[in-house]
Amino acid sequence: MKKVKVQLSILLLLIATVVNCQKKEVVITTKKITDQIYMLRGKGGNIGLFVGEDGTFMIDDQFATITPKIIAAIKKITDKPVKYLVNTHWHGDHTGGNENMQKQGAVIVSHENVRKRMSVDALVRGKTKKASPKEALPVLTFTKDMMFHLNGEDILISHVHNAHTDGDAHIYFTNSNVIHMGDTYFQGKFPYIDIDSGGSINGYIASAEKAILMSDDETVIIPGHMNLSNKKELISFKNMLVVVRDRVKKAIDSGKKLEEVKVDKSITEEYVKDFNWGFISDEKFRTSVYKSLKKH
Ligand SMILES: [Zn+2]
Repeated sequence: MKKVKVQLSILLLLIATVVNCQKKEVVITTKKITDQIYMLRGKGGNIGLFVGEDGTFMIDDQFATITPKIIAAIKKITDKPVKYLVNTHWHGDHTGGNENMQKQGAVIVSHENVRKRMSVDALVRGKTKKASPKEALPVLTFTKDMMFHLNGEDILISHVHNAHTDGDAHIYFTNSNVIHMGDTYFQGKFPYIDIDSGGSINGYIASAEKAILMSDDETVIIPGHMNLSNKKELISFKNMLVVVRDRVKKAIDSGKKLEEVKVDKSITEEYVKDFNWGFISDEKFRTSVYKSLKKH
């Protein structure tokens, strides 16, 4: 009997190990948006891909460890290598593959604050993130807007101030009517406002308003995380931000402290069911909105 028990526990351990290994295995999925534009998902921020005769244009690159898988997925779509790579902001789940991609010949483009933040040691959620090597840094930077004219498309890259960070960009394919919003948009979820990197709730709202203005009912919106989206969903996201911001502001104006806002579920009550998720709970979101309003 004892022997059977031991064998059973070894078997369970083996199963658990196999399940664990499978969990870690990243699979890249490809979603076709138009004949030329694709969204790739694996681990980290959503990747945008634009293909055509002149060369491949990429938006964000997730993590260094999965670059070979990402390149393999790109090769299934086009035989043209990545010529330009735009970083929507500096976070590691969007820029982790930069060094690998640069070595493959990609020219990396970003807002100047992305390069600045990647160039120095930084504090990320209480931990020190080492400065990136030179090979991982963007080589072309912009301060406000820039245009790409490629594969018969006019692509507008525009900076939005102090939203998710201080270096965010929207990438708008003006002919194809597709916008990649980076992490200024978490589709259907409470967003992560990186206050230490210059993010703010008011900037988040302004960023959403800007993308709403650029959109019509046909626009396809690629969020930094979660699923492909549209103008209608972006408006719901923006409305949620405005309501929560106004309630937190009212609480601050009436003298409430962070500890009180943190536990005041009424501020986010109608949004918890849909917008809550593992990374940003309603409590975390109330806390960051409070801190952002206090800071700016
Ligand atoms: Zn981010």
